Amino acid sequence: MRIVLLGAPGSGKGTQAAHIAQRYRIDHISTGDLLRAEVAAGTPLGKQAKEIMDAGSLVSDDIMLGMIEGRLAGNAAEGFLLDGFPRTLPQAEALDKLLGRIGQPLDVVVFFDVDYAEIIQRLLARGRSDDTEEAIRTRLQVYEQQTAPLIDHYKAKGNLRSVRGEGEITEIAERLFNVLDQVR
Ligand code: AMP
Repeated sequence: MRIVLLGAPGSGKGTQAAHIAQRYRIDHISTGDLLRAEVAAGTPLGKQAKEIMDAGSLVSDDIMLGMIEGRLAGNAAEGFLLDGFPRTLPQAEALDKLLGRIGQPLDVVVFFDVDYAEIIQRLLARGRSDDTEEAIRTRLQVYEQQTAPLIDHYKAKGNLRSVRGEGEITEIAERLFNVLDQVR
């Protein structure tokens, strides 16, 4: 199965991605985790990305596309779960093209529907280096302007499913499994 998780920062994508990847035995690809690994390893890319991430801005589409292409090349057929990518329309269009080229289109895009008040509370409770009040404000703005339009993009393509992302973690996982079992 080839899945994209879409939703605001703090909407629970990362938490649920782990459950989904385990249940359907697919590769969990979190671009945030990949970038944080580069930062931790002190690579040139990591050094460049850290400031951008801490400010709550987006790393350039070129860098992100290079990262995703490398990761998907050759093993997309076994299924994957993208968490945190795509985040911009150019990223989504490039992904569509890449997957079209290899004949492995997305099966489903799941949108995590969570109220803003809840999201802000969750982010403030998390304490990552990009979870300061100012960075959170920027990230939500970036989300609204650049990522939220992807909801309509995938709606138009006919493979968007919406899941309410509030409540207990296990409860949300059940809702997701219900949707994904139908797609499988
Ligand atoms: P996340 O863990 O998904 O919240 O990502 C943390 C940070 O990594 C984001 O705020 C961005 O700075 C960067 N990042 C992750 N994924 C992407 C992406 N697809 N495009 C641009 N920047 C990204």
